[in-house]
Amino acid sequence: MQPVIVGDVVVQPLYDGTAVLTTDMFFGSDWTEHRHLLADDGTLVVPVGGFLVRLGEHLVLLDAGVGDVHDTMFDGGRMLESLHAVGVREADIDTIVVSHLHSDHMGWLERDGAITFPNATIHVGAADWRFFVDEQANGKRRAERLRVVQEHVSLIHHDGTAILPGLVTRATPGHTPGHTSTVITSGAERLIVLGDALHCPAQLTETEWEFLYDEDRALAARTRQALVREGEQTGTMLLPCHFPGMTFARLLPMQGVRRWSIG
Ligand SMILES: [Zn+2]
Repeated sequence: MQPVIVGDVVVQPLYDGTAVLTTDMFFGSDWTEHRHLLADDGTLVVPVGGFLVRLGEHLVLLDAGVGDVHDTMFDGGRMLESLHAVGVREADIDTIVVSHLHSDHMGWLERDGAITFPNATIHVGAADWRFFVDEQANGKRRAERLRVVQEHVSLIHHDGTAILPGLVTRATPGHTPGHTSTVITSGAERLIVLGDALHCPAQLTETEWEFLYDEDRALAARTRQALVREGEQTGTMLLPCHFPGMTFARLLPMQGVRRWSIG
């Protein structure tokens, strides 16, 4: 997986495995123009994982994969190997930002009841913590796993929270109540790491397609549309978690027609 370069900052995708999505998870979708994104059996096989950001002396992890999970949707387990392959150990990570608390973004935070990244502060949207932990919206088990890391968690209450110099959060709710993107700025370039605000490149143009697991589908669509409009600004790249090759998109505004390139 190729690193994404933002000014002086290197963002390294950390591959954990894959998820299999089906086209009927995207409501109102027509795949005629997007067949190249589908596997031979008509499914959409997407990568899962996270991103390592080297920012000055800091080592930052954005999202924490699915973990050693093998079921009908997910086939994970390789994220720590991916981390070690670039010379980084779990204890080296000092900052984590989790876009949201679905299983494929918090999977490695704990293992067998112990914290995986012992020296990291874990930043999470306050509304997601309330939803998934306090209200146990995805069940007791998820809440219990997250309570293991509770003492390391710093809740994000405000849009535009500065986590580190050059790294600021952005409230992007809809997929989940506290879904949070991270904006990395270096020189004249900006990368918006946007978790699951978009699930596949087709949604860069088909922003109205709603996704099965968007908690508030109308809000998710508005958030997606705002992010894609922002992506049309000069020097701005969008990096969703599940794009092919875990790479970024650039929007190319041309004659009123929205086009994009990836990687
Ligand atoms: Zn996801």
